[in-house]
Amino acid sequence: MPFKILFTFWFFLLGSAIGSFLNVLIYRLPRKESILFPPSHCPSCNHKLAPKDLFPIFSYIFLKGRCRYCGAKISIRYPLVEILTAIFFALSFWLYGWSFYCLKMLIFFSLLLPIFFIDLEHMLIPDVLSFTGLGLGLFLSLLEGKIYQSILGSIVFGGVLLLIYLGALFILKEEGMGQGDIKLGFLLGSFLGLKLSLLALFLSYILGGIISIFILLFKDKNLKTAIPFGPFLILGSFISLFWGESIISFYLSLFIK
Ligand SMILES: [Zn+2]
Repeated sequence: MPFKILFTFWFFLLGSAIGSFLNVLIYRLPRKESILFPPSHCPSCNHKLAPKDLFPIFSYIFLKGRCRYCGAKISIRYPLVEILTAIFFALSFWLYGWSFYCLKMLIFFSLLLPIFFIDLEHMLIPDVLSFTGLGLGLFLSLLEGKIYQSILGSIVFGGVLLLIYLGALFILKEEGMGQGDIKLGFLLGSFLGLKLSLLALFLSYILGGIISIFILLFKDKNLKTAIPFGPFLILGSFISLFWGESIISFYLSLFIK
């Protein structure tokens, strides 16, 4: 037990460091900047950041959310991504221990968190993340002996989105969603398998619908707000992954006595 607590803490630290790297991806991938070069710098004054400026979570708190060199505000997204990743890593280890499933969850999260924030801000999903993710999803499933489930999930998740996309294009003459969402669907399906993919799709549309209604109600109607769909696909997939089996058995229990 004491070892488990120690390792959980270690996973928290590991997660915060990975989160720090995910922040680099979130900032640089949509700007087509190199991930490795140049070293981290302030986006406002370009001053190179010292290690003491880059310590996950704590640097933001000590600097009170401002750049040490020019005083520009640092986006709250930085500590948020670090703390979310740290908590997710710690929680995954606490729940699943040293297991293949735990590793799979950590990889899944590390792929989807940057996609979530990039799509939210820029309305795009970098292909490099979608394709790397699809490759990893298939590879991990192969190791798990679930490759057919993975391929099927991927084809159905991506395929349903592709059909909806084509339907909107031919019938409504507009792009209902971005092509990036379809590629994201292939990635999500490869991790979820067929059953959880279908549930995730269903949940994504419900979530998307609810949030869209709220935005329409509370925002200036003249302001045309486009909402990216990727974050909903990701939220729906996470709910499906963690609670999908319970949701499905609850739903079935309503009909089968
Ligand atoms: Zn600065």
